[in-house]
Amino acid sequence: MAIKEKKVQNYGENPIEVRDSDHYQNEYIEGFVEKWDELINWQARSTSEGEFFIKTLKEHGADRVLDAATGTGFHSIRLIEAGFNVASVDGSVEMLVKAFENATRKDQILSTVHADWRWLTRDVQERFDAVICLGNSFTHLFSEEDRRKALAEFYSVLKHDGILILDQRNYDLILDEGFKSKHTYYYCGENVKAEPEYVDDGLARFRYQFPDESVYHLNMFPLRKDYVRRLLHEVGFQDVTTYGDFQETYHQDDPDFYIHVAKKD
Ligand code: SAM
Repeated sequence: MAIKEKKVQNYGENPIEVRDSDHYQNEYIEGFVEKWDELINWQARSTSEGEFFIKTLKEHGADRVLDAATGTGFHSIRLIEAGFNVASVDGSVEMLVKAFENATRKDQILSTVHADWRWLTRDVQERFDAVICLGNSFTHLFSEEDRRKALAEFYSVLKHDGILILDQRNYDLILDEGFKSKHTYYYCGENVKAEPEYVDDGLARFRYQFPDESVYHLNMFPLRKDYVRRLLHEVGFQDVTTYGDFQETYHQDDPDFYIHVAKKD
């Protein structure tokens, strides 16, 4: 009988030196992903997001949607339930397996594609009305070249009037206010505690603590909002609107997240 070895997160001797776009493959290990899904109640997540993505997609007449960062399937499944026709992409096989299982439990069959964003058109030839890249996923790319490559691939799988919806954590706040005023983010009440453990211009290392005291990390690139908006324009998107925490009036308060809606045409 084959014994399955349990994966552990491995950042080597100097975790803050791990700044590599391929490292996401080793970060979303089973224990972390399962705990996250178990504690972050999908119903609560749907409620907090509201109808923002569904409404935006409908306003743009989207039907065929590519979920570029499927993860455990939250958005893919929600969009299928809302009547969209979804292709679910992720660069991690483990994540796609988990998403497929989650969908099966809800009587849905996911149409999954294993692909890295940077070489998306190698595996995806079809054109879509919309591409979504949500849940602070774009932050996993560590070089500007990789970011440009991924955005250019998203651009090219869109139909001429397609839209890209991409979200990001508000890193400006963390970078500008500095490490001393670091913010703790609580998900699902007090259940999951996330805080930046180390921050510089090229790395935001977050520590995630669960109620059973287990601790996981993610190394991410701290994307500035205006930098992402500039990149989107530079790869060819014509019109970029940025929302804060699902509202357009973000300049009044500091939101935790930004959502960019970029039009190809
Ligand atoms: N969108 C989901 C959500 O909100 O629950 C999952 C978000 S999770 C933070 C990020 C996902 O992006 C992971 O499933 C990871 O495997 C995927 N990912 C990161 N870098 C990638 C890349 N270069 N190509 C494809 N997938 C990537």
